[in-house]
Amino acid sequence: MYSIGPLTVAPGERAQGLIPVGTSSYGVELGIPLIVVNGAQDGPVLCVDAGVHGDEYDGQEAIRRALAEIDPATLRGTVVGIPCMNTPAFEAAARASGIDHLNLNRIFPGDAEGSYSQRLAATFVEQVVPAVDAVVDLHTGGAYGEIAPLVILQGGYEDLATGLALAAGHELVWKGGKWGGTVRHPVLEAGKPAITIECGGATYRETNVEHHMNSIRNILRSLGMTDGEAQLRDTYTTVAGTFARSAAGGFFVARAEPGETCKEGDLIATITDHYGTTLEEVTAPQDGIVLWVRRIRTVRPGDEVVIFGEVLGEIRP
Ligand SMILES: [Zn+2]
Repeated sequence: MYSIGPLTVAPGERAQGLIPVGTSSYGVELGIPLIVVNGAQDGPVLCVDAGVHGDEYDGQEAIRRALAEIDPATLRGTVVGIPCMNTPAFEAAARASGIDHLNLNRIFPGDAEGSYSQRLAATFVEQVVPAVDAVVDLHTGGAYGEIAPLVILQGGYEDLATGLALAAGHELVWKGGKWGGTVRHPVLEAGKPAITIECGGATYRETNVEHHMNSIRNILRSLGMTDGEAQLRDTYTTVAGTFARSAAGGFFVARAEPGETCKEGDLIATITDHYGTTLEEVTAPQDGIVLWVRRIRTVRPGDEVVIFGEVLGEIRP
């Protein structure tokens, strides 16, 4: 039997249900929705989550579809899907929930006595982390921007999480390290691998749902949970991301695409006023790769406009 939150699942069975976090003002129970596929044979417990940011949709759909195609009779181990971690943010169609406006991916391990998002984070740490062996956290570039397909590998945890990161299948490996409080952190601190996979954003695209499903399928093979050999690339490119913010507000137009290679000084984006006068040109600070570009046209002073990737090196598995 496998147990997580309120669910107990026999080998070879599926189950779904909610880990409660709190009751909304409508009187409806809010919490973490779970889909569990418990294999008939022993193996690791893989958790795949999405919807930490409520305006990132592709991973949410990918989890439902990827878990639906798993046959529990042949699965070795258990897959725990959290299709939408931050349901109040999803309801608001926004990055953060309308309850406390906190960025859930900066406040882990949370606080069981805190606001809703803090309680949600604490519930994940208390009830999900001990019940799983690895976590794959699916994101997109959000409603405001589009990101190149990439995996985020937390700096300092390379020994623990590189295998999982490479199995995600994307060429770009972003060595995350400048900020804490993500979903990855409490998992890594518990000595278990955790990665974030990014792709798409600005809208929902079936091609990006498929990208996320392919990552889940390859990770299941790499962990020996499903049949077949995991596909690895010959080389992976490691990058460090730098966030560029606008000085001027105005009308934003990107001149480079996510994933595009740039030379120092190349034009990445322009900001104009309503008369067409160029107010600002965003250029590549060095040779590198555009990781994320703003997709909505409205830009205010200080808004994020580009994430630029400095190439650190390569990984040959
Ligand atoms: Zn996100």
